Amino acid sequence: MTPDAPTTPAIQLVGLRKSFGAGEHEVVAVDSVDLTIDNGEFFSLLGPSGSGKTTVLRMIAGFETPTAGAILLEGQDVTRKPPYERDVNTVFQDYALFPHLTVHQNVEYGLKVKRVPKGERRQRAGEALEAVRLSALGHRKPSQLSGGQRQRVALARALVNRPKVLLLDEPLGALDLKLREEMQVELKAIQREVGITFVFVTHDQGEALSMSNRIAVFNHGRIEQVGTPHQIYDHPETSFVAGFVGTSNVLSAELSFQLMGVAKVHSVRPERLRIVREVASDSEVTVSGLVTDLQYLGADSRIRVAIPDGSHLLANVPSDGLVGVAIGEPLRVAWSRYAAFVVADTNTEGGEE
Ligand code: ADP
Ligand code: MG
Repeated sequence: MTPDAPTTPAIQLVGLRKSFGAGEHEVVAVDSVDLTIDNGEFFSLLGPSGSGKTTVLRMIAGFETPTAGAILLEGQDVTRKPPYERDVNTVFQDYALFPHLTVHQNVEYGLKVKRVPKGERRQRAGEALEAVRLSALGHRKPSQLSGGQRQRVALARALVNRPKVLLLDEPLGALDLKLREEMQVELKAIQREVGITFVFVTHDQGEALSMSNRIAVFNHGRIEQVGTPHQIYDHPETSFVAGFVGTSNVLSAELSFQLMGVAKVHSVRPERLRIVREVASDSEVTVSGLVTDLQYLGADSRIRVAIPDGSHLLANVPSDGLVGVAIGEPLRVAWSRYAAFVVADTNTEGGEE
């Protein structure tokens, strides 16, 4: 295949909409979603609780029928097809394993139901367990596994079907932080090895940034931005994305005009702010305020500064540069003009009302 040969995307969502209920009780869960996910991508749907991520995933799987729009898998319109006629598998957060079956039997189970012959069944389950690095534990019962291992059994149970697309709905949500971080690395490695398209739902921006090839950021049933982790973090296009992905200072149009002469909402990351002790350079924007909070984070510290327009700014600075910074004391901060970006003014709250 030549590098620029056109390939059929794994998934296309076209004008997708889903509402529940009717009349004044109508809830629009997903609204005008257009999205193309390429083959072999690790693609994340990121957004606060209630933003429509699960509903999108359930429509791709075929568990929900769209109110409007279309779903194409490998170029084929599957909008009206039942789940079993779609080459996708789902891994849910509460992965109910059969407690009386061994790990190997749990993984084989789906193939048994599909009447796959015994020899092939055993071999495919073995391969799936190898992919999730559990070959040595095939004889154990689920109760003899850790939470992370059980999650990997659930993954093997989906991989054994060799789907083109794997849908994962907050699969790491039930694990504690350390295990979750380990599983993030594992899951990404497994996806690279098996080469299957992963659609990964999460409300955790760190998780999405560290694992994904691309991310779609959801807010109130709509996509606010699609891009690589770098694009999303470095160039948020809306005030919602700026605030939801990482931490950002969102400057109102009035304040932006006062400080920078442009009457548009801007976003600037806290790590782009520095403490000014002498004179700022011409290419910098400076503001004076009062320190209202000081949070030690280890190598860095986060300072909250109340400024005259009534809002506040967050600055992340190296902890060894905090001499003279104290709560209640005045402080001048500055950032390069190039560190502030114009963002579309969308709802910065997000989530369920
Ligand atoms: P997320 O996964 O991002 O948390 P969901 O897709 O689960 O969001 O839900 C999006 C919105 O749709 C929410 O307001 C939710 O309450 C609503 N919703 C989801 N499923 C149903 C349903 N079966 N009936 C009514 N409302 C629903
Ligand atoms: Mg959900």
